Amino acid sequence: MRVGIIALQGSVEEHVRAAERALSEGCGGEVISVKHADIVPSCDAIIIPGGESTTIGRLMLREGIVDEIKSAAKHGVPILGTCAGLILLARYGLMDIHVTRNAFGRQRESFETPLKIDVIGEKPFNAVFIRAPAITKVGEDVEILAKCNGYIVAAKQDKLVALAFHPELTRDPRLHHFFFDLV
Ligand code: GLN
Repeated sequence: MRVGIIALQGSVEEHVRAAERALSEGCGGEVISVKHADIVPSCDAIIIPGGESTTIGRLMLREGIVDEIKSAAKHGVPILGTCAGLILLARYGLMDIHVTRNAFGRQRESFETPLKIDVIGEKPFNAVFIRAPAITKVGEDVEILAKCNGYIVAAKQDKLVALAFHPELTRDPRLHHFFFDLV
């Protein structure tokens, strides 16, 4: 399996390492850093990392990656958007979700909390939130995977997965396995 990580800005290295770890425990495969056009079409799965959504979005547009991502989504390629990546999944109209940026407020710039996510098992997932967005509304095709403080913080629509937190910053590989199993 070939996993492409959009590597323009944000928590790229952490995602590369977490994806490589998860692949080596599971089906195997390689992780590619996507910095320009013509790579996304050869990937079996795509990860859009956290960072600054305005910057990542602008660079993706400049590099011609946005249309490739939209086309990949249309062809059923699984895409994981974490934090800023979640914001971009909404902005490009790939997922039917409404998003509020920095939803958890200034005092709570970052925090860590155990989350109940039924699709990965009973043990809570230790979720790291950093100036995190939240999903405030979902369309009927969207499955809610987790909530925190009344906000939706994880959701899935077909093969698109949106997480408001950073699964690459903890050693728990279950969400990566859940995502790679969609391929
Ligand atoms: N607050 C950032 C944004 O709006 C997202 C934060 C993150 O990705 N850690 O782009």
